[in-house]
Amino acid sequence: MKFNNKESFFTRLRAAEQGPLKIAGPCSAESEAQVMQTAQALAGKVHLFRAGIWKPRSRPNTFEGIGYKGLEWLSRVKQEFGLSVTTEVANARHVEEALKYGIDVLWIGARTTVNPFAVQEIADALKGVQVPVMIKNPVNPDLALWIGAIERIYSSGVTDLAAIHRGFSSYQKSKYRNAPVWQIPIELKAQFQSLPIIVDPSHIAGNRDLISQVSQKALDLGYDGVMIETHPDPDNALSDSEQQVTPARLAEIFEKLQVRKTNY
Ligand code: PEP
Ligand code: MN
Repeated sequence: MKFNNKESFFTRLRAAEQGPLKIAGPCSAESEAQVMQTAQALAGKVHLFRAGIWKPRSRPNTFEGIGYKGLEWLSRVKQEFGLSVTTEVANARHVEEALKYGIDVLWIGARTTVNPFAVQEIADALKGVQVPVMIKNPVNPDLALWIGAIERIYSSGVTDLAAIHRGFSSYQKSKYRNAPVWQIPIELKAQFQSLPIIVDPSHIAGNRDLISQVSQKALDLGYDGVMIETHPDPDNALSDSEQQVTPARLAEIFEKLQVRKTNY
């Protein structure tokens, strides 16, 4: 498999900048006002605006996303702030609707990457379409499932891909919500050398205090970008409230991050 990193959408988004590709936005799109307020605060400061509209929550009776109407809000973000936008897709209908609304980049979540049927359905819906896709690792520490999902999407003809490392769930308690197990993405990178890789320190950390150090560790390993959940009022977020940061805190995190020599 060949990924042309130089020509990739993700490389172009960063243009000639030195720093990492910056992706931020709320875990969930909650209301039009919350989406627009966050986007306004991030415009000009990030390359790609994220917001989940279909939320794969582990437990029922929690906020499961605003659904299709969130697509209109994301397309407003594009028009009003000139930001590129991305959202999570988990089935063929999500892909079709997201494309209708001009969503620039799609991502596949950790609870979807574990399921080859779901990934194949998404791959089939992507046939004949050129849209960049980011593929999160599966929830469990299974490198083959991650590679398999990348191969399935690649086989549909979509070659503008990136991997997102969001950590791995474990029964063992640790300071992380999802243990980073850095060795797994290192092995992924060894297989797909030109595949851009992005860290999602928010889901690895599970709390906002660790985001800065997890991001720095990833950059030290040569990662291409960071995706950080950002919300105007994190404590009152409808999902992942403990790990989201304010736009002001995000700016401090970015300020501190250093691009050092890569180890890959
Ligand atoms: C998310 O990015 O909000 C999300 C649901 O992440 P993950 O698939 O990594 O759990
Ligand atoms: Mn989240």
